[in-house]
Amino acid sequence: MPVLFIAGFGRSGSTLLDRLLGSGRQLHSGGEIGGVWALGLVDDRLCSCGARFSRCAFWQAVGRASFGDLSDAQIREVVRYLRRAFPVKGAWRLLSRRTRRRLIESAPPAFFEVTARMYRGLLDVSGRRVVVDSSKLVTYLVLLAHVPSLDLRVVHLVRDPRAVAHSWLRPGAADPDGRSSMPRIGILTSAALWLILNGAVEWAARCLSLPYVRVRYEDLVRDPAAVVRQLRSQVLADPDREDPAPRDRAAADLGAGHIVSGNPMRFRRGRVEIAEDAGWKADPAAARAIVAAVTFPLRWRYGYGGVRLAGPGRRRGIAGRGQPGAADPESAAGGA
Ligand SMILES: [Zn+2]
Repeated sequence: MPVLFIAGFGRSGSTLLDRLLGSGRQLHSGGEIGGVWALGLVDDRLCSCGARFSRCAFWQAVGRASFGDLSDAQIREVVRYLRRAFPVKGAWRLLSRRTRRRLIESAPPAFFEVTARMYRGLLDVSGRRVVVDSSKLVTYLVLLAHVPSLDLRVVHLVRDPRAVAHSWLRPGAADPDGRSSMPRIGILTSAALWLILNGAVEWAARCLSLPYVRVRYEDLVRDPAAVVRQLRSQVLADPDREDPAPRDRAAADLGAGHIVSGNPMRFRRGRVEIAEDAGWKADPAAARAIVAAVTFPLRWRYGYGGVRLAGPGRRRGIAGRGQPGAADPESAAGGA
């Protein structure tokens, strides 16, 4: 089962990319599927179709094939396990093989099997051929890599850390029912997490020998159709025929979908204008300098050397298995 896993750090445009990829006929936009356990099965949050998770016919059908048989106690055990596995500040500990082994071995008995059936269910119920999962977190990526039936491909979405820090400082939008799962964090923390989590994605893709492609948010919003076409070509033999990308560079038509966990932009429907959110460029110079200092040298590696972001739209192609970033070392700096 092919899964395009959007990896990276929050506030980088992953829900937008997820939905753009799912706006055609072949890819199912799944949102943050790792969050379905806590936000769907326990909290019963709103699905992007407008129904509560427990009332959404799509998720009920997926559940019949996967999590439907689990007891409340089993579901809570998985949620506790994922909370333990997901402390983002400790993601660097995954560098240790022993930590990874402990993480896998301590999974509740049903976790990997039910997870495999959930992705199967998403494909069967949606009638599509590829699942897009924008869970982002590298820990969840490591867990998914231990589900044998999943054919994982990593889409590493990066964004200028100064823009990411700007976004984390602001209160996130809420769901239509007023609930929010978007906390605020300070610039030092977000800069450190940007560095740790993005570095960990590259490292995990290499360690786990997963196909890897890097996409910059700034390139995505400048030419969404080109990025969507490139990513669909990673999973479809003939994307132009099977799932043609929209030609429009500034807007996309988005349907309702069934995303339970993700940015509240998952509720937007119809024509959505796509433009770079560049509010961070008006932040105090000192704040930008602090973030820039903490996030060096990965920031430099991803082409965020200066403030000016526009540039030729070169993007890297998918690297060979086990060689993240090996395709074209220059292209990451294309927009610097
Ligand atoms: Zn739904």
